[in-house]
Amino acid sequence: KYAKKLHGSSTRRQEKSTAPHRPRVIFSGIQPTGIPHLGNYFGALANWVKLQREADPSDELIFSVVGWHALTLPQDPKALQTARMDMIALILAVGIDPKRSIVFHQDHVQNHTELAWILSCSTPVGRLRRMTTWKSRLAVSRNANDESEIDDSLLNAGLLTYPVLQAADILAYRATHVPVGDDQQQHLELCRDIADTFNRAYKQPSTLFPLPHHMYTPTRRVLSLKDTSAKMSKSAVDVNSRVVLTDTAAQIKAKIRGATTDSIQGITYDPVNRPGTSNLLLLLAACTDEDVDEVAKRYANKNHGDLKADVSQAIEEAFKGPRSEFERLRGETEYLLRIAEQGAAKAQERSDATMKEVRKRIGLA
Ligand code: ATP
Repeated sequence: KYAKKLHGSSTRRQEKSTAPHRPRVIFSGIQPTGIPHLGNYFGALANWVKLQREADPSDELIFSVVGWHALTLPQDPKALQTARMDMIALILAVGIDPKRSIVFHQDHVQNHTELAWILSCSTPVGRLRRMTTWKSRLAVSRNANDESEIDDSLLNAGLLTYPVLQAADILAYRATHVPVGDDQQQHLELCRDIADTFNRAYKQPSTLFPLPHHMYTPTRRVLSLKDTSAKMSKSAVDVNSRVVLTDTAAQIKAKIRGATTDSIQGITYDPVNRPGTSNLLLLLAACTDEDVDEVAKRYANKNHGDLKADVSQAIEEAFKGPRSEFERLRGETEYLLRIAEQGAAKAQERSDATMKEVRKRIGLA
């Protein structure tokens, strides 16, 4: 119901096409690194639900909990185990239907790591070093601003190579569309390049990998509530920088009340000069499925207190359904294990077909 409320009107906006539908393979993943926040929800998860509702029956939808990616940062094994299960419950709680979409743990399907290895053997290290995620890890590790001074001897190799694993996640299913936030744009470009390199090297009998397209939502980047130069993140140390799906109404209210804004009178949507205020407007627009400029117009003569009160209420409306569904589902351990197992079996079958072809083409059949 809440997903319909959020995105119900978008069907009307869809353009009618007379061209025959070409089945899409839609793939996306989320790390089991904590409870999803507003950015994960509006940048990715809500879009998965919308796609599931609007997809053609011939489209395939594949959603993965990407546990191997989580290992790029230190993880407590017990907490990781819980987070993996919770993430399956959360994906279902937001409205993903395991009868329609494949939901599985990445680490249950070994094809991902095998393909990642094969692809890493044709990916230049220089290309990986240019990833902004790698550069920011380097900068943090040395607390350095001048890139010429930083050295990578203490960082793990997984941090450098995980974009190749991400490419393998996508290409193992020959995915055509990838609904993710804009923090993943550079990784998806790399994935397209990796696919293109493979396609050119192993042309026969026909191109193996489609070049996947990025699917954005209007809320492609939600900012941290505390540091508006950063995106909202599950792993950020300050828990007040994010509103997560399990936050109570009171917690949501407190976090939004404490969100960084500015001291300019009135409310305007100006992401460059007023990032905090614009972030709140964007969140309200996402919750009510409205255009952000329309929302901004309504608040032109109001103040930050009014805006924050309404944003908190709208988030509570959007999150209360998934929150209670998650609380119900997380106790259903056997059901969750079964869903993950069935999802892995389907993912295995789909990716086996790709791997058979990859092995044959590279001479490792
Ligand atoms: P972590 O902080 O542990 O790296 P994360 O919050 O970045 O986690 P991921 O699990 O890496 O989240 O990403 C899951 C999905 O959520 C991806 O599609 C990603 O693009 C999207 N996403 C993450 N953060 C944001 C954000 N702040 N705004 C919009 N989309 C986001």
